[in-house]
Amino acid sequence: MQVCQEIKKLRNLLDQYRYDGKAIGFVPTMGYLHKGHLSLIESSAKENDITVLSIYINPTQFGPNEDLDQYPRDLENDKKLAEEAGADIIFIPDNEMMYKTHHATFVNVNGLTNHLCGASRPTHFEGVTTIVTKLFNIVQPNRAYFGQKDAQQAIVIKRMVEDLNMPLKVVVCPIVREKDGLAMSSRNAYLSKEERKQATILYKALQEAKSRIEQGQRSATEIRDLMEQMIQTQPAATIDYVSIVSEKTLEDIDVLEGKILIALAVKMGKTRLIDNLRLEVN
Ligand code: AMP
Repeated sequence: MQVCQEIKKLRNLLDQYRYDGKAIGFVPTMGYLHKGHLSLIESSAKENDITVLSIYINPTQFGPNEDLDQYPRDLENDKKLAEEAGADIIFIPDNEMMYKTHHATFVNVNGLTNHLCGASRPTHFEGVTTIVTKLFNIVQPNRAYFGQKDAQQAIVIKRMVEDLNMPLKVVVCPIVREKDGLAMSSRNAYLSKEERKQATILYKALQEAKSRIEQGQRSATEIRDLMEQMIQTQPAATIDYVSIVSEKTLEDIDVLEGKILIALAVKMGKTRLIDNLRLEVN
């Protein structure tokens, strides 16, 4: 596995692979890798000749009072895990390389980014779509891998790729969970033992919603109220949102029908966790 810190070095390497007709898979991350990230690397390694992993904590997707400075890092362990999972190249740029002093260009996906996480993190998705565009331009992958864990991010990136005719395929991989159902996240490392225990309510609330829908419940309000009541039984939990939306528009729906996304963001203590469930309701 090669480690590249320079854009030029990475481009030279990848140009050679492309010239040799190799398919390039790309997995963008912020590091502190866990099994969720590794599942993306493994999928890419299966479906491509060369897998590039990027590790970059992108400052423009963090709001002013968010956890940019505390975001967990462990580069040595990340390198080991990435290699075992099948990465061929790790790209680790720094801030000076990614955002030159006069950087003035940003990518915005309108509409979809107003809902869910976009409502409480108004500048987040602009940061994500801008850095992902830059990384796509640097790596020029055939396929790029994202997790369903960040459901809105995956939908926004798919829209951007389609709208801007980016020549690559976006692959969305399933959520990898801990044994008790908690979705894996680098931010889980922030949780105290007690918060970690209480955080299992998020998956339980999603599962309860699923089971009520399977039993015939079609009122979004009823399901949302039930989920909120469940989450509020945990003293460490503060709800940012529990939403039931159309997967296509990310707008709230009243009657459950078609492809829906049940998504939530909850602070456990100071740690903001997200999770979601996709369902097709007939
Ligand atoms: P991050 O490092 O948090 O920016 O995540 C990098 C990529 O890994 C994103 O596409 C995430 O959606 C994906 N990811 C994070 N956690 C999980 C998980 N538990 N299961 C599957 N994919 C995940």
